[in-house]
Amino acid sequence: MENHYSVLGVFRPADPEKLRAAYRQKARDTHADLNGRKTDDEFIAVRLAYETLQNEEKRTEYEDQYVSEAQSKGLFVCERCFSMVRVPKFRKGQKPKCPNCKTAIRVSPETRDAVLGEAFSIQMDSLMEAVGAEGAELAKDAVVAIVGKIRKKFGLVKKGE
Ligand SMILES: [Zn+2]
Repeated sequence: MENHYSVLGVFRPADPEKLRAAYRQKARDTHADLNGRKTDDEFIAVRLAYETLQNEEKRTEYEDQYVSEAQSKGLFVCERCFSMVRVPKFRKGQKPKCPNCKTAIRVSPETRDAVLGEAFSIQMDSLMEAVGAEGAELAKDAVVAIVGKIRKKFGLVKKGE
């Protein structure tokens, strides 16, 4: 999944000069008028990324929102390439790495499990909201199967399973 940093092809932290240089290059590469492309979609994404990241306030707002979106999905955000990554189970002293840029993800096993636990309950809540109490009673087996799937996705497998 793209983010404003990957759209511009820069790593965090990106200073204003680096952002401007990356924007100029990408704008040349993606502008429809300059290279005969049919649409300006890519250029629009490049401009939005630049306008967001070069403005301190917009950048903070974007980053905060992006990080909470990742957490609600049980994912972590790489500090360098800013991609959302799934961090598998690991023990104290082990350092999980970003699959994209190989930078160590700074997260403790406790934090990881807390984030996954929260993401799990968010998904459970929306599942229960979707089926409702009546639906859960009627379709017990199906619900139990889905709960098992969600649990597995977050690595929350019960003992003895
Ligand atoms: Zn990364």
